[in-house]
Amino acid sequence: MRGCIYARYSTDKQDKKSTEDQIQVCRNYAKVHNIEVVQIYRDEGYSGYIADRPALKQMLQDAKENLWDVLLVEHTSRLARDGLLLRKLIEEFRFLFKKPIIFVSQGLRTDRQEDIAVIKLFNLIDENYIEGIRIATRRGLEGSLLQGKWVSRPPYGYRMENGILQIHETEAEIVRFIFTQYANGMGIRSITYELNKNGIKPRYAETWSISTLRNIIQNPIYKGLLIWGMKKRYIDKLTGKTHFIPQKPVSINMPELAIVSEEVWQKANEKLQQTKKTNIPVRKISPLTGIVICGVCGKPMGKEDNKLVCLNYRNKKTCTNDIRLDYDFMLRFIARYVKQFLKDNKAQLLEIMAKQQNMSLDYALLIQKQEEKLKHLYELYAEAPSPVLREKIKEEETKLLQLQQHKHTTAKINIDIDALIDNLESIMLKHPEEANQSLKLLLEGVVVEPADGIVRINFLASPYLSTYIQSSEMSRAGFVGNTLFWINCEVVKGIPIPIGSTFSE
Ligand SMILES: [Zn+2]
Repeated sequence: MRGCIYARYSTDKQDKKSTEDQIQVCRNYAKVHNIEVVQIYRDEGYSGYIADRPALKQMLQDAKENLWDVLLVEHTSRLARDGLLLRKLIEEFRFLFKKPIIFVSQGLRTDRQEDIAVIKLFNLIDENYIEGIRIATRRGLEGSLLQGKWVSRPPYGYRMENGILQIHETEAEIVRFIFTQYANGMGIRSITYELNKNGIKPRYAETWSISTLRNIIQNPIYKGLLIWGMKKRYIDKLTGKTHFIPQKPVSINMPELAIVSEEVWQKANEKLQQTKKTNIPVRKISPLTGIVICGVCGKPMGKEDNKLVCLNYRNKKTCTNDIRLDYDFMLRFIARYVKQFLKDNKAQLLEIMAKQQNMSLDYALLIQKQEEKLKHLYELYAEAPSPVLREKIKEEETKLLQLQQHKHTTAKINIDIDALIDNLESIMLKHPEEANQSLKLLLEGVVVEPADGIVRINFLASPYLSTYIQSSEMSRAGFVGNTLFWINCEVVKGIPIPIGSTFSE
């Protein structure tokens, strides 16, 4: 297909895109869409409001003479800023020349009926106009802030009353407690523990967390300083992605909203900066990151002094699981059983991998199947409700959730089974991230669950595996749900000692 490009540039300050930029954008489009660019028209130094432009006239002449089949323009405003003129040009192209105009950046074309209204709208909502609205909105928000009106959810320690932000005394007490204790030497973890132990709850959650406390300490509102507009949210219409653009912030001093003094705030924040520098190392992925899960609260277990502990137990005492496992030993323990599993199921795993290669596992399809299955179960439950069925539904709902979570992951089980069988331990040590990835492809997690004086260590199949397990040999071998196998252990000094397992050895 033969195409041409029209570009226009005025000397107006508003015009940021040069004709060269516009042409490049159109050229890229042409290349992708197999359009051969046979002519380029440029009007430089001409406003979009006037019709009398030499290149525009030439372009219309050539359209009449059928020198090309499609017109590419970067943006509607390049062709015309004036509504009437734009409409006239579009009508000519549609009914007289019978050629489409494609507005490349906006993704609009005049040969699509549904685009026509949008094009007219774009022209109405001229960029200048949009800019005007933006400035007005910003001014309006600043004005509201100056009057003490809050524009989003009020922070902890405050409430909205008649649209005005006000201190909430009960919560303000807690804020003062946090700041003064922290400034006077107590650690964030201890303060979090104190609050949770005393049954004090934050507004939007059941328990306090270290990060919530950190956020509170860093918020300047507690010393009476409101900062607004540090970042502006912007959604890219083409990709749908949200971006944050740094902005010049507006700050307003509102001493009547201060809950702590400037000194206390400063002291607490200096301490926070200090601990941040010294305490928080670069987060490194270890082979077991996110793999070992607390069987009581369901949160991943973390590493402390070379021991694996439940982070909820350690940080907030909101979990009762006080098991501590020797990290290095667990590494070898997990490696040993994963290797055993790989050896025993190598044939099936290879088959699964081959199947995936062939049909390029389509999560959308799996999700659809799972939804159908659930629908059927719901209907069954509606007819004959029973606790057993309720459990089953819960289980299937979890599976659906897992599938949905994994939908966007392009990862598939593509692991070198033999390499893992031979060298899993050394891969864990030398290439922790790689080992972690392989483990995550195989395992949803390794759940550590205290049960009647012993500890049950459950190996759960990853969603990549579990969707196949149901129909495979594995389910006949006695696998329950997405549990691959479990090992009952006695824990002595952090070391799990197996006392019989379901594993075929
Ligand atoms: Zn826990």
